[in-house]
Amino acid sequence: MKNFDIIIIGAGPGGSFAAKAAAENGYSSCILEKEVLSDNGRYKACGGAMAWELVEEIDYPEDKIERVFEFLELHHIDGENFSKKGKGAIVWRSTFDKFLTDMAVDSGALLKEKEAMINLEKKNGSYEVSTNKDKYKAKYVIAADGVSSPTLKLLGWPFFKSQDVVLTITKEMKTTKPYINSILGSDSLHFFFGIKDLIPAGYAWLIPKIDKITVGWGKQIDLIKNSREEFEKFWTLPYVKEALKNSTMEIFKPHLIPVGLRPKLYEENVFAVGDAGGIVDPISGKGIPYAMWSGQIAIETIKTCEIKDRLERLGTTYEKSLDRRFLKILKAKRIVRDKIFKDDENLKKFLRLWGKHRASEIVMKKLMD
Ligand SMILES: Cc1cc2nc3c(=O)[nH]c(=O)nc-3n(C[C@H](O)[C@H](O)[C@H](O)COP(=O)(O)OP(=O)(O)OC[C@H]3O[C@@H](n4cnc5c(N)ncnc54)[C@H](O)[C@@H]3O)c2cc1C
Repeated sequence: MKNFDIIIIGAGPGGSFAAKAAAENGYSSCILEKEVLSDNGRYKACGGAMAWELVEEIDYPEDKIERVFEFLELHHIDGENFSKKGKGAIVWRSTFDKFLTDMAVDSGALLKEKEAMINLEKKNGSYEVSTNKDKYKAKYVIAADGVSSPTLKLLGWPFFKSQDVVLTITKEMKTTKPYINSILGSDSLHFFFGIKDLIPAGYAWLIPKIDKITVGWGKQIDLIKNSREEFEKFWTLPYVKEALKNSTMEIFKPHLIPVGLRPKLYEENVFAVGDAGGIVDPISGKGIPYAMWSGQIAIETIKTCEIKDRLERLGTTYEKSLDRRFLKILKAKRIVRDKIFKDDENLKKFLRLWGKHRASEIVMKKLMD
């Protein structure tokens, strides 16, 4: 049995940032990851879009960026289009996740790849975690193992409400860089909306990478009748058809995005971070920065409560710190999400506002009311 202060399950952005923070705060930590991490390793369905501020925050190397974007093009299926300015980067998730995990390892965290957590039990105040290879023991557990979180399932935590889960379908379509630039523009991401005739409670996207177009579709799971047929509807839009002609499919992958919080985020020294806790923007589905920051906040919470000898306040301190940093806004966005996707009139009102304001501003200044 190998002993650590903190065991982190999952080496996505949430787990890696938690591990980095743990090492920097003097805790011994071990990240268990079931896949192999490498630039061409495990594929993760993701647009890979992030704000430029995040690239700067982590000093992400420019040569690892697939594309820099300056505009979001918001297409309503009835033909009305809206354009939004905003600089950001598109990354390939295997490369990005590996970069973050390397940061954690460089800080002093131990990484165990190809080790899937298969069981965990609380015994005498500690957690005993078994993988396909070994056994580990720690006082704290960080569940950073994604939306389906096997960790939280084993602990019997409740899953998300069905209206808080979006099913996505992603296809990576190989084409050429000049063709992408000519049809989508070299610096634009494209999003497609339309409640009545395309997707109720969701949207679809074309995101250019170096020589691939990521085609995605996501819809609230409780409203789906036949995902394949509904996805095909998007595929037949003339603009989409033109963009994808002569391309070949390399990857097909369905995946879930939580768009509301899990009923709890903490219990008995276990913290849910990132997608495991549903800590995602409910309007856009953006989750990378919130996974990173919630991982870091979980560790800061442990440190603060240990220093003050207030371990009974771990749960409330975690949620309060998350609220202060960004969760309060995400909670408000969850309410506005239902308003936006109520009908096309509301949706267009939002798209019009989004062209000029940040989504957080629309929500906090109640511009949708
Ligand atoms: C189609 C799609 C498009 C998206 N586009 C964007 C976008 O453009 N921008 C953005 O910011 N966000 C986007 N997101 C959301 C983003 O991908 C997630 O919010 C983010 O990956 C969450 O990070 P995480 O660390 O919480 O979990 P994950 O990234 O899911 O990582 C979980 C890790 O846990 C590991 N794991 C699981 N089970 C076990 C186990 N039993 N033992 C050990 N390890 C385990 C997994 O292998 C994985 O590496 C998108 C999501 C989807 C589905």
